[in-house]
Amino acid sequence: MPVIGLPEAEGQALVQHRSPGGQNRPTTRYREARPDADRRARGGTHRLPAPPAALRGRVAVAAVAFGALTAAAAGNTLQSERSTGGITPLADTRDANAAFGVGGGDGSPEVLPIVRSSDAAAEAKRLADSEKITAAQVAERAAKDAEAHRPMFVKPAEGTFTSGFGGRWGQFHYGIDIANVMDTPIVAAADGVVIDAGPASGFGLWVRIRLSDGTINVYGHMDTFSVHVGQHVRAGDQIARMGNRGESTGVHLHFEVWDPSGKKINPLPWLNARGITF
Ligand SMILES: [Zn+2]
Repeated sequence: MPVIGLPEAEGQALVQHRSPGGQNRPTTRYREARPDADRRARGGTHRLPAPPAALRGRVAVAAVAFGALTAAAAGNTLQSERSTGGITPLADTRDANAAFGVGGGDGSPEVLPIVRSSDAAAEAKRLADSEKITAAQVAERAAKDAEAHRPMFVKPAEGTFTSGFGGRWGQFHYGIDIANVMDTPIVAAADGVVIDAGPASGFGLWVRIRLSDGTINVYGHMDTFSVHVGQHVRAGDQIARMGNRGESTGVHLHFEVWDPSGKKINPLPWLNARGITF
């Protein structure tokens, strides 16, 4: 009967579980049992000597690399599910023979002792539960890490910088303009609370967001907005889509920064100081 092949890591995990009681035997016993002549002389053996040190080493390496819990659980599951027909799944013939000191050259199947299925299932469940806890802890840590490293300031829209802060066409331009195609997403440049969202003279529609330090970011000319007064937003949250409303000569975002005293300041150095460049 052929031996069913399995992925090496799983097979090696099986080996580890299939020699209970054999683990403490000295390696020399394995070496004594291995030669065919010696086995014949003792009339064969159904005992399970410890696997060779090298193989145990590989089992340990595989378990560490794959995650000890996962490897052990996989071994138990395979054992209980696949051993019922009396056919033993093994990693490969050479390793199997080396590990168990059996299986001469006749190709006959080897029936090996197995742990009770209920034990295997309970152990697998315990390991699976441990793994879930670990996964949850990992996810929680990742979320905290992401929060700690998320950008606190974001470019309010992608596009072409078309106008700066200052005099323009005989008027003073109190913001910067970023031009792009209709409906380009506009995002909050910083964390804050929405204090206005709706029609405003000259702006068509505007959204104003107050930051925790009292600074106010103003967004104008958008075609649509998707926030409401009182809403807390975080840097990068989409708040609107670009448009051409109000006193505007093309699709763009008009962005202003008012300092905590209400003075309109140049947004460009304010953004540059926070890592945003155009
Ligand atoms: Zn403008």
